[in-house]
Amino acid sequence: MPRFQQRHLSALGAIDGAYSNVTQREAGGDKSVTVDRHEKAVLFDVYGDDFARTSADRSPPTRPFNVIDLSLGSFAAKELAIKYPKESGAELRLYFRRDSGFYPESGQVWFMFRRENEPLPFIGSCSSALFDSITSDDDVVKAVQRDFALDVDDDVYQKLVAAPEDAVVPKEYRAMRYERSAAVGREALESAGYACEFDNTHETPLSAVTGQPIMEVHHLVPISKSAEFRCSLDVLANVVSLCPNCHSAIHRSTKTVQVAMLQKLFGDRRAAMAAQGIDLTEEGLLGFY
Ligand SMILES: [Zn+2]
Ligand SMILES: [Zn+2]
Repeated sequence: MPRFQQRHLSALGAIDGAYSNVTQREAGGDKSVTVDRHEKAVLFDVYGDDFARTSADRSPPTRPFNVIDLSLGSFAAKELAIKYPKESGAELRLYFRRDSGFYPESGQVWFMFRRENEPLPFIGSCSSALFDSITSDDDVVKAVQRDFALDVDDDVYQKLVAAPEDAVVPKEYRAMRYERSAAVGREALESAGYACEFDNTHETPLSAVTGQPIMEVHHLVPISKSAEFRCSLDVLANVVSLCPNCHSAIHRSTKTVQVAMLQKLFGDRRAAMAAQGIDLTEEGLLGFY
């Protein structure tokens, strides 16, 4: 259960974290991991230490976590069960849930970390080879690190945009420092006519929620750069509708692809952004990616 070192922190954009190997007993037994000293430090920072102490087999209470997929760099808020299974002692157990994406196998690494300005703790698991490669000192990982440093327009937010009326939002999510309005996101998709603003011929399947082509919301100037501007970045002029392919590309593709996309999108709305007070050059925008 080592604590994160600098290379882990910078690779994952974390301010604190810890990781452990998943033992055969954990993966084969009651499908849970022991939350050790360093992981507790991360967890208690967020939730305090008021987890239920119960040996009963009834499903234990849950807490929301950002379950992260390191191979994609994407994450989504999910509820995971956690409890003290014994009447006394410090053993705290966190339970796997297949549909949450947190379902480690024996021999894999599981990890927990926190990021600044992000209220939910992050949790995930992957092969030790992937974990080592992502957190290595190697220059090759710089591209991955850049992905993590960008603000991710995560699943909870995309779902809120699609269905603000009935989406369940974790309380902690609402406390985000740079809050994004689902209404602005939805307005952006509507004003784009649910088309991809990079290329409106891009076709996507219909959303079961909106009945419109599936599109995602992207903030051209990342919302995490809010401190560098006097005005809100969560305004229509800065919010674009992208098909899921283009949305992943703008976050994670090569510099060449990113630059081409940004030039097109910025060219289309530079004046509108400036009118809102988001005054920057193309070089300035590219510098954020
Ligand atoms: Zn985005
Ligand atoms: Zn597209």
